[in-house]
Amino acid sequence: MKLKKQVTVCGAAIFCVAVFSLYLMLDRVQHDPARQQSGGNFPRDCQFALGSKGQSPDLQMLAVYSLLPFDNQDGGVWKQGFDITYEPNEWDTEPLQVFVVPHSHNDPGWIKTFDKYYYDQTQHILNSMVLKMQEDPRRRFIWSEISFFSKWWDNISAQKRAAVRRLVGNGQLEMVTGGWVMPDEANSHYFAMIDQLIEGHQWLEKNIGVTPRSGWAVDPFGYSSTMPYLLKRSNLTGMLIQRVHYAIKKHFAATQNLEFMWRQTWDTDSSTDIFCHMMPFYSYDVPHTCGPDPKICCQFDFKRLPGGRINCPWKVPPRAITDANVAERAQLLLDQYRKKSKLYRSKVLLVPLGDDFRYDKPQEWDAQFLNYQRIFDFLNSQPNLHVQAQFGTLSDYFDALYKKVGIVPGMKPPGFPVLSGDFFSYADREDHYWTGYYTSRPFYKSLDRVLEAHLRGAEILFSLALAHARRAGAEGKYPLSDYALLSNARRNLGLFQHHDAITGTAKEAVAVDYGVRLLHSLMNLKHIIINAAHYLVLGDKDTYHHDPAAPFLSTDDTRPSQDSLPERTVVKLDISPRFLVVFNPLEQERLSVVRVLVNSPHVRVLSEEGQPLPAQLSTRWGSATDTVPDVYQVSVLARLPALGLRVLQLHKSFDSHSMLQSSVRLYLPGHDLPVRRQEPVPVRVLPASTEDICLENQHLRACFSARSGLLQSIRRAGEEREQRVNSEFLVYGTRTSKDKSGAYLFLPDGEAKPYAPKDSPVVRVTEGPLFSEVASYYQHVQTVVRLYNVPGVEGLSLDVSCLVDIRDHINKELALRFSTDIESEDTFFTDLNGFQIQPRRYQRKLPLQANFYPMPTMAYIQDTQNRLTLHTAQALGVSSLSSGQLEVILDRRLMQDDNRGLGQGLKDNKRTRNRFRILLERRTTASKAQDGRPISFPSLLSHITSMHLNTEALVMPVAQEKPAPLALRSFMPLSTALPCDFHILNLRMLQAEQDESLPSAEAALILHRKGFDCSLEAKNLGFNCTTSQGKLALGSLFQGLELGSLQPTSLTLMYPLGTASNSTNIHLDPMEIATFRIRLG
Ligand SMILES: [Zn+2]
Repeated sequence: MKLKKQVTVCGAAIFCVAVFSLYLMLDRVQHDPARQQSGGNFPRDCQFALGSKGQSPDLQMLAVYSLLPFDNQDGGVWKQGFDITYEPNEWDTEPLQVFVVPHSHNDPGWIKTFDKYYYDQTQHILNSMVLKMQEDPRRRFIWSEISFFSKWWDNISAQKRAAVRRLVGNGQLEMVTGGWVMPDEANSHYFAMIDQLIEGHQWLEKNIGVTPRSGWAVDPFGYSSTMPYLLKRSNLTGMLIQRVHYAIKKHFAATQNLEFMWRQTWDTDSSTDIFCHMMPFYSYDVPHTCGPDPKICCQFDFKRLPGGRINCPWKVPPRAITDANVAERAQLLLDQYRKKSKLYRSKVLLVPLGDDFRYDKPQEWDAQFLNYQRIFDFLNSQPNLHVQAQFGTLSDYFDALYKKVGIVPGMKPPGFPVLSGDFFSYADREDHYWTGYYTSRPFYKSLDRVLEAHLRGAEILFSLALAHARRAGAEGKYPLSDYALLSNARRNLGLFQHHDAITGTAKEAVAVDYGVRLLHSLMNLKHIIINAAHYLVLGDKDTYHHDPAAPFLSTDDTRPSQDSLPERTVVKLDISPRFLVVFNPLEQERLSVVRVLVNSPHVRVLSEEGQPLPAQLSTRWGSATDTVPDVYQVSVLARLPALGLRVLQLHKSFDSHSMLQSSVRLYLPGHDLPVRRQEPVPVRVLPASTEDICLENQHLRACFSARSGLLQSIRRAGEEREQRVNSEFLVYGTRTSKDKSGAYLFLPDGEAKPYAPKDSPVVRVTEGPLFSEVASYYQHVQTVVRLYNVPGVEGLSLDVSCLVDIRDHINKELALRFSTDIESEDTFFTDLNGFQIQPRRYQRKLPLQANFYPMPTMAYIQDTQNRLTLHTAQALGVSSLSSGQLEVILDRRLMQDDNRGLGQGLKDNKRTRNRFRILLERRTTASKAQDGRPISFPSLLSHITSMHLNTEALVMPVAQEKPAPLALRSFMPLSTALPCDFHILNLRMLQAEQDESLPSAEAALILHRKGFDCSLEAKNLGFNCTTSQGKLALGSLFQGLELGSLQPTSLTLMYPLGTASNSTNIHLDPMEIATFRIRLG
């Protein structure tokens, strides 16, 4: 029989008394029943997740997946499709209208760095574009990456700029999407997706005076339904996608469903609909865009004319168009156009003409544009052919289609289907699923999220500090140069959203280039936060003086290089007290354990007013058994105001009762290891044990195997039954065949095998009054599972950290799997971009790797009783391979290229810390019927847990050299608590009209109202908020500041929505994101 040794977090009674009396003081709110989730306005706000009687879409992607056989039959010349036939007289009454759209796909970093691509290729493409487009007004071109375009713009003459504006103005050049990059849609977070879209759109508006109308995304490896929502809310009316699973393309082609209105799953009318064109064939290059036969289409890529550097792999070269061959050539091409047209409902046809980094030489422009013009001239001169062919932009195509079906842009064309769902996971051929990149280079995926949190925090705090400084007439003293750093950080984060950056699919040197940019911006953002915090916490603003050489505050951590983990700052204690300023970037007050490293165990933590705060002292471990000399961790329980700054004091104190002690038990597996202890934290060394270890707080009890140190079960307080949550590490290998896993592809050699390390782990249990944790040290991974003994959000879930180091692995992927008794069957849920939840179904007819999905912020499984959510602080690949399981890939090391152009394996692994939160919730009113719907929402607790995980409090010590100022005051920017379901996505200061390195008087306030599910039990959540049916009074929200103006705009500020009204009360529907142009002061 297994003995269970229970360790309550609140081990010693005396500490409990001390801690709980402090709780009573700290946690007033949670005993207010009106603030519980079941009270207030919640019932009405709960209706949303239950759904209403909205019409179901014609195409629901989950259902499409269930329907398709995925049999990959040979389709002939169109290998992944079918034979297309037509009657020659089909266009007699309504001619075929063909738009050939020249494009050049420019990756902002992939094989080369962003700068190298710019110097080697992109600048030449854009220079010859200006030249060659002016030669013939019938020529057209589209451009999408503003990162490149703006760099070029900075380097060209006023004359050339004027020419570009003319080309845009007369419709020859169209800016499509207009984002900073063409973002990855699997790993990117909606904060960053929106931010790079704003950055691009703001640049376009300012410099060219144009607003994009159509979206163009030919290369992202699968498509999220978040993107159509963002484009729609930016007032775009059409969009195009390309990399969709070949079996779905075939099915949609056969049913003429390649064009549809893409609708959000939660949308019950049609307010989120946007027209979407899906390209039908294998690729966006010329051989796969003119029609079904690549052997023929390739002959119409005139860059491949004989004598050039590239040719046609189908062995029939293009021929220059002459009077002698034009009739035959045009007929051959028209046959392809007609066949392609049969896959669509309208008689307007889109034919993209381009490829990666195309049109970089004037000769190529001539070859393509002159030869195609000859073909068009011929086709258009033959009335019997019933075709009208021309160059066009993407919007030329959409406009012609809308005109033909008799609608205005933005409306639903009659007879076209409505689709909801997304296009993950992507396979381009056979069983080659692009599911590896959900995890590739997790180090940078994690760094990306850290940068995002800092950017958001810096934006908000900079905007608030500047507004307060302006109001006090102190703008002249404020470091306005921070705005340029902020702007640069937006652009570096934006660049990293590119579909070869955050995906982990660039060359090693390019990954380093991205890493350096991210690190550089992270440091700058910390300085912006420090400068803003300095101003905001000063009691007497007249004493404010910014000295760039001696910052008032220092940073919470440092990173020695772009690929190293952060090293936390150690605060040196002295006779005079040290002050800390803690920034809470969340828009909700939080009761959190704030951790600080100090150089002495003799320490006391006081509030700003001098009240002692509960704090736990623990040692700092450098390895499994070795403490870091003279460094101690102080964990303080502090209530942090929403978006605010809390001032804390650290005093040196020899009063032994001032600090709550923790104790440590070390389980050593057989072998002798030297143990270094550090007074006064007691350490007991024990042999490996067969007993379980349990941690418990007032909400839950988590038990671990003492031998493995891994989580086994969770039991919620007041419940008889414990839920098995058995965690284990597993390893996937790669196949022995030619096709192996690489940066993009996941091609495992079968099911995962248990991870079998050489040695058993050292297991270290720390028990204390504020938190307890179980750490296990394996050769390739160190896990720490922590339970906070804190009322409210922090204590309701388990905090999990996995420090992964697989640099000595060869062709292996390390996975973490949780096995439970939850009867989830084949269904699991993953988020899209942290914005929405997409239900998934494990498809047995598909290979294992096809069942992995991106997990940017969370995944869960559920039955009618329970829901288990894995929250994550970095994007990773996830699946549920059997009922009750949830599995995440932590890192992958692959020695070879996977033949998608990268030409490299994935061998530059770093020590990476993956962070999670495990939340077990009880479902109260779930029903099978409800669960059968293709829609799901997290609970409010889950949303807030995710925000806690992704937005850590920042601890900034007041620099030691500074004499402690007498009047540091905590800063509380909000006068009232925001409704629980409102999220301030950003408060983004806009650029000054004249000088782009300076801020204007206006900011963009971007709000998101989250959709949530009330059918999960929510007792004592400790939220200091309620919901308000979407109402928010903005006028009085910011304490001490006046809202000078409030103008609702489209998402990226391009279009005002309605007129600015005098009312500052706003309303948001659930799930909606809204942008307001505001003036604070
Ligand atoms: Zn690309």
